Amino acid sequence: MGNLQKDETKSLRKKHIGPSCKLFFKEDPLKIVRGEGAFLYDENDTPYLDCINNVAHVGHCNRDVVEAGYKQMQVLNTNSRFLHDNLVLYAERLATSLPGNLSVAFLVNSGSEANDLALRMAYQHTGNKDVITLDHAYHGHVVSLIDISPYKFNLPGGKGCPEHTWVAPVPDIYRGKHRTGTGLTEHELGSKYASEVDSIIEKMADKGRAPAVFIAESLQSCGGQVIFPDNYLGEVYKSVRAAGGIVIADEVQVGFGRVGKHMWAFQSYDSSLVPDIVTMGKPMGNGHPIAAVFTTPEVAQSFSATGVEYFNTYGGNPVSCAIGNAVLDVIEKEKLMENAVEVGNYLLTEFKQLAGRYKCIGDVRGRGLFVGIDLVKDKATREPDTALAKKILTTLKEKHILIQTDGPSNNVIKLKPPMVFSMENAKHLVHNIVQVFDSVEN
Ligand code: PMP
Repeated sequence: MGNLQKDETKSLRKKHIGPSCKLFFKEDPLKIVRGEGAFLYDENDTPYLDCINNVAHVGHCNRDVVEAGYKQMQVLNTNSRFLHDNLVLYAERLATSLPGNLSVAFLVNSGSEANDLALRMAYQHTGNKDVITLDHAYHGHVVSLIDISPYKFNLPGGKGCPEHTWVAPVPDIYRGKHRTGTGLTEHELGSKYASEVDSIIEKMADKGRAPAVFIAESLQSCGGQVIFPDNYLGEVYKSVRAAGGIVIADEVQVGFGRVGKHMWAFQSYDSSLVPDIVTMGKPMGNGHPIAAVFTTPEVAQSFSATGVEYFNTYGGNPVSCAIGNAVLDVIEKEKLMENAVEVGNYLLTEFKQLAGRYKCIGDVRGRGLFVGIDLVKDKATREPDTALAKKILTTLKEKHILIQTDGPSNNVIKLKPPMVFSMENAKHLVHNIVQVFDSVEN
């Protein structure tokens, strides 16, 4: 469908697509017509190395995934009100990958749907209404989630913090409220950040209220690739549960083995951590819209106690489940978690070495193929260098490499490539980033 000149595509888009739907590189947007592995190709078949598309988890247009969808589409696609093996086998397979008793699945179509449903369950299970969220967090685009996403409601033009939302400082030990370089250990910083949640719970109690839920991405991708101190989530989970709430791990961006050593990013802090609800999305279908909520039988029971049916027209259809299952097959078959460890460690080691060489690299952090480079004007003050981040983004685009910047000051280079990102791809990226740093500092 379609073979328009780039300018025609641009003007039709301007006319018919809502202006709040933004393009990457708005001054000179890319027209992408196909994808393969870790590469996207423009209308002239120029390849761009994709360092940001975590949705294309097992590689753009992975053949096994495409075939699984194609085959199932030829046989049947219908809703989950009929018995079908794909749904139950897929749910069983994912449940096996989760710790504790997270054995009950609700299949949906997007990360937003998953988090919205998770919130409904938390309200119903606890009888409470208040939500504790992290600063700079983003959990989805529907009304209920904009209300708990400071990444949106705190922007100029945003509506501000609603009455039942409580914002805890993000446990960013590099540039957050409690930082390294102050004599405190990472563990102590973790406890300090966790005690901020305790203070919120106390303030709630003063108003005669208690938390329904604490929600956090297991690694905060939207807020600038932040990795928490190992003890943080464990301490918070304990406090929130003691106050009558439950906890949601949002794995929409960071799940499915991205951290390399674990399937789920929350597991990378402490192997004994078990959230009450885990939400999944983006990488789950390699681009096909599929997402999920996993919870315990107890929470699922509370959710069904009212007798109101939960029906989702597309969620858990046989095609989506076949695709999701094929993604899991490819992760295993192509050893993509092992690849995330190897390539991720290479990137982390290289960038940490570069941090010793260049004044503008303040912090390098990562787990598996989730890496952030925090750029600064001054290492001592940690003042963010937003302009440099933008320069690197645009220079790399000219070199046909796609990265993203994020964080409250947009100064963090964000890397979350497809999991098929190879050592060769990583070397190419490092080589080109070094050239940009050299041009800035020498
Ligand atoms: N949670 C997180 C952490 C996300 O990053 C996003 C999307 N960026 C969502 C939820 C919402 O997912 P979707 O866009 O599929 O609705």
